Amino acid sequence: MEQLTTIIFFIVLVSVIVAILSIRYTVRLRRYLEEFIYVSKKISNKEFQSRLNLSVQGELGELAKNFNEMIEIMDSTISEVEYSHLQMTSILKSISHGILAIDIDGNIMLINEEAKRMLKCDCDKPIEGTNASILINEEKLLKEIVSFKGSKKNKRKEIRINDDLVYKISLDPIYLQNINNIIIGSIINIQDITEKVRLENMRSDFVANVSHELKTPLTSISGFIETLKLNENIDQYTRNRFLDIIESESNRLKRLIDDILLLSFIENKDNVLVDSVCIYEVFMEVYDMTSYIAKSKNIKLTYEFSDKSIRVFSNRDYIKQVFLNLIDNAIKYTPENKDVHINVGIKQNSIVISVKDEGVGIPEEDIDRIFERFYRVDKARSRDVGGTGLGLAITKHIIKYLGGSINVKSELEKGSEFIVTIPQKNFL
Ligand code: ADP
Repeated sequence: MEQLTTIIFFIVLVSVIVAILSIRYTVRLRRYLEEFIYVSKKISNKEFQSRLNLSVQGELGELAKNFNEMIEIMDSTISEVEYSHLQMTSILKSISHGILAIDIDGNIMLINEEAKRMLKCDCDKPIEGTNASILINEEKLLKEIVSFKGSKKNKRKEIRINDDLVYKISLDPIYLQNINNIIIGSIINIQDITEKVRLENMRSDFVANVSHELKTPLTSISGFIETLKLNENIDQYTRNRFLDIIESESNRLKRLIDDILLLSFIENKDNVLVDSVCIYEVFMEVYDMTSYIAKSKNIKLTYEFSDKSIRVFSNRDYIKQVFLNLIDNAIKYTPENKDVHINVGIKQNSIVISVKDEGVGIPEEDIDRIFERFYRVDKARSRDVGGTGLGLAITKHIIKYLGGSINVKSELEKGSEFIVTIPQKNFL
């Protein structure tokens, strides 16, 4: 009986120990499961710094260790992916061209800020995934993109969007960079070449104009020389008249060439010699040069300086050229017995030069164009007074170089006023 009691006692004892151990194990397992759930929730919320408690031993410890290592690898892989994505978006954002990548079905895979601006996209909405036909309103551009789909050959094309906008587009296939090497879409590079086209047109117009302007006096010169050569018995009076014409056309050619060279010098030279220039001194040189022409037309040339010591940091010849062109024009386009007045002063921290005449005036529709090269309101009048059509183009370039502005007020048959403003940064 005593033996049975001992056996039962041991059985009970063992059962109690097993029960206690099981309860402890279950409690610990539950705690770990709770921690697992808690940490995995954090991971799914992208909180990759969370880790499981590693104090546990055995299989659970092994599991926790592997889990933590997995999170660490995931964390660094995601950081790398995020960094390369950041690098790519930064590169795309910094590219001054529009970049657009579309998949084989025509859906946008990638678009940079410049392309969004050029295609006038609604920047607030996510654009990736949208079909190009929904996004691009510009028909010519869309046609090129659609027709390029699946093409293996690169394509370059200039597209005139409207009178003020020209785009150059480059289309290239995108090959999947693996062994299959299949085409998965196309990449479109859009470049705004409006300014380049404008400059090219200007250059070719300029070349055509220069050729024409030079050809006219040359044809006249060679014509009169030919006549003189073929008619040896020509009378003295006619011979002298022809020689006068040759001389005047040669002078015209020289003036044209001088102005063309000056214009190209101003346009192409950034590093001109600059110095402290006294505006009054330079003006007086021009006054001395032009006053005798004014006198020959009985034009009263008057001037007023609010401060004769005003100095500007600039190229001396440039300032002289501005005075010369404006005063020379004022005298050229003003009839006899009228006035030309020059006023130089300081207004709102800028030097203001005004050249006012009582001349023929400029029609309103021509005012914006008189600064274009070779533009003349009245070709015959300009020619008669020895104009080249380049004076105001040269003046405008100089003023642009000085960071200033030039404005014109004019009334037909009453007169014109050219107002030049040079900003304070050029003062000394
Ligand atoms: P041009 O050598 O023909 O004078 P400019 O470039 O100096 O060339 O001037 C362009 C045109 O602007 C002139 O042909 C003339 O028609 C007009 N213009 C310039 N200044 C005046 C002025 N003070 N009064 C009237 N017309 C002017």
